[in-house]
Amino acid sequence: MKIRVLGAYGAEGLAQRPSAFLVDDTILIDGGTVGGALSTAEQIQIEHALITHSHLDHVAGLAFLTETLALYEAPTPLTIASLEPVVKALRTAVFNDTVWPDFAQVPTATSPIVRYRTLVEDAEQEVGGLVVTPIAVNHTVPCSGFILHDGTSAVVYSGDTGPTDALWKAAGKVRGLGAVILECAFPNRLSALADVAKHMTPERIRRELDKLPGDLPVLIYHVKPQFKDEIGDELGEIAGHRISFAEQDKTYLF
Ligand SMILES: [Zn+2]
Ligand SMILES: [Zn+2]
Repeated sequence: MKIRVLGAYGAEGLAQRPSAFLVDDTILIDGGTVGGALSTAEQIQIEHALITHSHLDHVAGLAFLTETLALYEAPTPLTIASLEPVVKALRTAVFNDTVWPDFAQVPTATSPIVRYRTLVEDAEQEVGGLVVTPIAVNHTVPCSGFILHDGTSAVVYSGDTGPTDALWKAAGKVRGLGAVILECAFPNRLSALADVAKHMTPERIRRELDKLPGDLPVLIYHVKPQFKDEIGDELGEIAGHRISFAEQDKTYLF
């Protein structure tokens, strides 16, 4: 499985893009940024967007991607896939002909540039050649993590979440697990904010990782740009895991 980091952050900064990953050139995992990281030719290859939740730092890039797909008459429509409340939020609050055009009606309702697919929680389903299992996690709005399996290797992507058990329980049963891509938003001193906003801090991550095999590589994403150095120092104190920041624009093979 090839995973390219389009955006590694939980907000936008100078050359720091919101969360998005591209799997095997055709499947987006979150879409906080797309056009800021990919050429037009690369964008029109995207066929699926697996979206964890409706927050802007995970979907803003879909607005410009869909417009690009429409303008360039992409050969394949984009299927936006997520749990039912997330699909509903995108349809009613984003692609609603007020905030942005309803591309499920463009150019025609029968042959649109965007389609929606509701995923079933806790069940394996095929998306673009991957087997995807959405697991609900612990955030301020409905949000799922994803377990992605290509038949050989697997990756767990946390989505935005505070402490959770369901995802790690499901991850424990996955064969060929190559890495966990895990969010962290705030440094330890902002733990009260992390509680309210339902995000990780390095200290929370230390406790979460006790629920997983010890030597698993952990890639951290969704750091708020202004806290990157501080969070990096605190993550460096966690023993027993290979923890590193997901590096923007880098392609990882699992
Ligand atoms: Zn976020
Ligand atoms: Zn969020």
